Amino acid sequence: MGDSLRNIANTIKDLDSILIFPHINMDGDSLGASTALCLALRSIGKKSYVMLDEEIPENLDFLECGCSIYDVDSYDRFDLSLQIDSSGMNRILGREAAWEKGKIKGCIDHHPTVKQDVYYDFYLTEPETAATGEIIYRLIKYLGAEITLDIANCIFAAIVTDTGNFQYSNTTRQTHEITAELYDIKDFNAKIVSALIYERRSKDSIMMEGEVLSNLEFFSEGKVAIGTLTQDILTKYGCMMNESEGIVQRIMTIEGVEVGCLIKEDDSNLVRVSLRAKHKANVAVVATKFGGGGHLRAAGCTMYISPQEAKKHLIPELIQAAETYV
Ligand code: 5GP
Ligand code: MN
Repeated sequence: MGDSLRNIANTIKDLDSILIFPHINMDGDSLGASTALCLALRSIGKKSYVMLDEEIPENLDFLECGCSIYDVDSYDRFDLSLQIDSSGMNRILGREAAWEKGKIKGCIDHHPTVKQDVYYDFYLTEPETAATGEIIYRLIKYLGAEITLDIANCIFAAIVTDTGNFQYSNTTRQTHEITAELYDIKDFNAKIVSALIYERRSKDSIMMEGEVLSNLEFFSEGKVAIGTLTQDILTKYGCMMNESEGIVQRIMTIEGVEVGCLIKEDDSNLVRVSLRAKHKANVAVVATKFGGGGHLRAAGCTMYISPQEAKKHLIPELIQAAETYV
C-alpha cells in the first residue's frame, strides 16, 4: 500500500540528510530497522540520525551503534523526516519540533493503516510483512548499500523481536529468506544477538514477572487472560516498565488462552495495554475501539484511566473478541 519501495529508494538517493523516527516505547523492530537504515545511509555518504527522546531499553542497547540523537536544535533543516514502524503524530510524541525539521516527510511501516493526521510526501505500509526490518533490508539493497555486521545485527533483532523468534503467525517465507541471507555476512552470529536481547534479564525482573503471572485473571472459560502490572509492583522489585516486554507473550503460552491482555500502569491515570491473540481472535479491533491500533494478533492502546477502570472497559470487549473468531 502506498508508494513502491524502489521509488522511495530513488527519492532518498537524491537527498543528503535524513532524520529517522522510531515509535515511542521503542521495540527491537522500530529501533533495529531505524538504526540499520541510518548506518546504510551513512555508508553511502548521507547525513543521518535516529531521533529519540527516551532511553533505549537495556536489552536493546547494542542497536544504538552511534546513530541516536536527542537534540537537533543545532541543525537547521534535514531533507527528510522519516517515520519508521508506525504512523501518526501520537507515535512520535515529544519529537514534533524535530519532525518539522524535515523538508519532506515519509513513512515506512507494516501496520495495516497509515494515520492521516500527518501529511506524508511518500509512504509505504506492508501489513503482510512481519517486521519493518524486512522492508528496510530490501530498501538498503535498493539503495546499493552494503549489509555490514552492525546492519545485519539490527535487522536480525528487528525480525526476531517482531516475530517472537519466528513463532508468530506473521512469520513468512520472506522472513526466513532475509534471515538466511544475514548468515552470509562475515562474523554474523544469531546466537550472540539473541543472547543480547533475551539473556540479560535481572533476577528482580523475573520475580516481578512472576508476581504478575501469579495474579492473572481468567474469563470466558479461560479463553481470556488479563494481567496487571502496577507502579507498586515495579517499585517493589526496582524494575522499569520496559522490563515487562515478554510478559504478555508468556501469558499466551497458557493452553486454552485465545486472548491475552497486559495492563501496564505507566503513570497515575495512564495505562498502556498490550493485547495478543493466539490464532483466531482479532485484537486490533479492540485496540482501535480504545483509540489504539496494531496488528490482528498483536495490538495495543493507551488509556487515560486507572488499571481497574481500564480492566472494566476491556473485559467485555476481550470476551467478545475471544468468542468471535476471524
Ligand atoms: P506492544 O503490546 O508490543 O506494545 O504492541 C503491540 C502492537 O500494538 C504493536 O504493533 C504496536 O505498534 C501496537 N500498539 C501498542 N500500543 C499502541 C498504541 O497506544 N497506539 C497504537 N496505535 N498502536 C499501539
Ligand atoms: Mn514492527
